[in-house]
Amino acid sequence: MSPLLTWPLAFVLGAVLGSFLNVVIVRLPVMLMRRWRTEAQEALALEPDSMPTYNLATPRSHCPGCGHFIAWHDNLPVIGWLKRRGRCAACGTRISIQYPMIELIAATLALAIVAGHGVSWASLWLLGACLALLALAVIDWRTQLLPDAITLPLLWAGLLYQWLFAPWQLEGAVLGAVSGYLSLWLVYWLFKFATGKEGMGYGDFKLMAALGAWLGWQALPLLLLLSAGVGALVGMTLIATRRQQRDQPLPFGPFIALAGWIALLVGEPLLHGYRALLLGGI
Ligand SMILES: [Zn+2]
Repeated sequence: MSPLLTWPLAFVLGAVLGSFLNVVIVRLPVMLMRRWRTEAQEALALEPDSMPTYNLATPRSHCPGCGHFIAWHDNLPVIGWLKRRGRCAACGTRISIQYPMIELIAATLALAIVAGHGVSWASLWLLGACLALLALAVIDWRTQLLPDAITLPLLWAGLLYQWLFAPWQLEGAVLGAVSGYLSLWLVYWLFKFATGKEGMGYGDFKLMAALGAWLGWQALPLLLLLSAGVGALVGMTLIATRRQQRDQPLPFGPFIALAGWIALLVGEPLLHGYRALLLGGI
């Protein structure tokens, strides 16, 4: 198929999926909090609060200010937000720029995958992985949570992806998942032992395990280097510009996700040379 056709289609598909991602990013943490609250109440033999249904589908998209349901034509990815100039049609409450931003990033990711890998089933899987990483990065940045509901399926999907599309790398993927988890687990305990503080959460280990599955154990040093490097750079910038207190923890998930994107999208030549170096050079 001609890029004249596939690139715009990929962009639109990415934007539509990004729109769904917005729902996941906003609602999944709330759904988890509600579930934990109910579980805690049950464990304490308290009567659980009765709350109205809240999931990815219910209630429909509405304005956070006045509750006005958003019409489908105002809910179109990016266009809807631009059309209303980022405000609710009924009451004028500001609608966060996060919504069109996520849709644009998702669309750009889809475009990058089609441009770099062409149109194939493997590309569709890659898009799924990149979008899951996007959701995790934003959720972790906002709430310091990396939900199991995304990290664990991402891990299984990575192993399946290798089995389907690169079975010769399956062994490296299994080892990658195990050593991805263990590497951060080890850093966590060493850090805790040395400083008495917790530098990361278990979600970070699971996310690194998932990337180990998608990219193989050989990619782990690169992933660790990239995520720690970018994380340190952003952390220092935030402290220097006084947007972040020195002792305030910075979520690590967004940087692991960023490293994952780089490795998944442009990492193939990088990883190739690097594998050759590991296996042949020394
Ligand atoms: Zn409103």
